[in-house]
Amino acid sequence: MPELPEVEVVRRGLVSWVRGRTITGVEVLDPRSVRRHALGPADFIGNLQGARVLDVVRRGKFLWLPLADASAEASGGASTAGGADASGGAANVALMAHLGMSGQLLMQDAEVPDEKHLKIRLRLSPAAGMPEQLRFVDQRIFGGLFLTSLIPTADGGPGGLAETPLPLIAEEASHIARDPLDPHFSFDLFYRRLRARRTGLKRALLDQGLVSGIGNIYADEALWLAKLHYARATDRMRRADAERVLDAARQVMTDALAAGGTSFDSLYVNVNGSSGYFERSLNAYGREGQECRRCAANGIVSLIKREQFMNRSAHTCPVCQPRPRNGRW
Ligand SMILES: [Zn+2]
Repeated sequence: MPELPEVEVVRRGLVSWVRGRTITGVEVLDPRSVRRHALGPADFIGNLQGARVLDVVRRGKFLWLPLADASAEASGGASTAGGADASGGAANVALMAHLGMSGQLLMQDAEVPDEKHLKIRLRLSPAAGMPEQLRFVDQRIFGGLFLTSLIPTADGGPGGLAETPLPLIAEEASHIARDPLDPHFSFDLFYRRLRARRTGLKRALLDQGLVSGIGNIYADEALWLAKLHYARATDRMRRADAERVLDAARQVMTDALAAGGTSFDSLYVNVNGSSGYFERSLNAYGREGQECRRCAANGIVSLIKREQFMNRSAHTCPVCQPRPRNGRW
């Protein structure tokens, strides 16, 4: 699965190409890629046709494009239902992009031959110097596109990171908490909820209802940076420790984003995870048996340990992230 920084790279790339453009044509080449659209491919196509893309929004690993009815806008009859955006269009429907394991969103000129695993093609209204097509390519068919409703956010804040934030969120993403990169993330709320959970710290970090967008890799990296063991009890966690691990998560994601933001071709919005930009800077994840860099810098030889954790793994340094005794930390 792509991690949050990769999805944010896609969001930033995509928004500069599609924002404000109208979808003039829709082609579903493989109906499996719209299977999450309950009303079927014909409904998907009919509703997308003529819609104008208002923005690209992300919360956690969820990515969506709020849409307005371009014909309603043109006739001056923009609805006020669901909250009008700054440009006058009503946004109450969104195109949701579920990238799965191998989904890619590509901007391509019409002359570019179809990709082998092209599943959905969107034609966009002409814009100077910009490709005409947004293509969804997916080798393994776990991803897909579908339409969803936009609903008011629970806290009245923006739905997620966007160019023109609206207090609306895609229904599918409404159950997840804000992510660490979201300026409206509330640490107080996070800390209150964290203390109320009787669980281990890593399990809590992976809980999308508590904080979204932290996957296995970034949980291990954040815990290493914060010098905290994954089994630390959340109900006894000090505020300063909770703050440190949240700051660490934000830091590793921001670093990955800074590296990833320069590694992709501007025409090629890619989220297959193959760019490998973040692997170079990992300190814990995937480093089993290798020296802990922080300990090495202090003249201590300590090897990163890999343990079974929730059907996956946890990577820690036994010296600078000591295991809590009887969970009594
Ligand atoms: Zn160490």
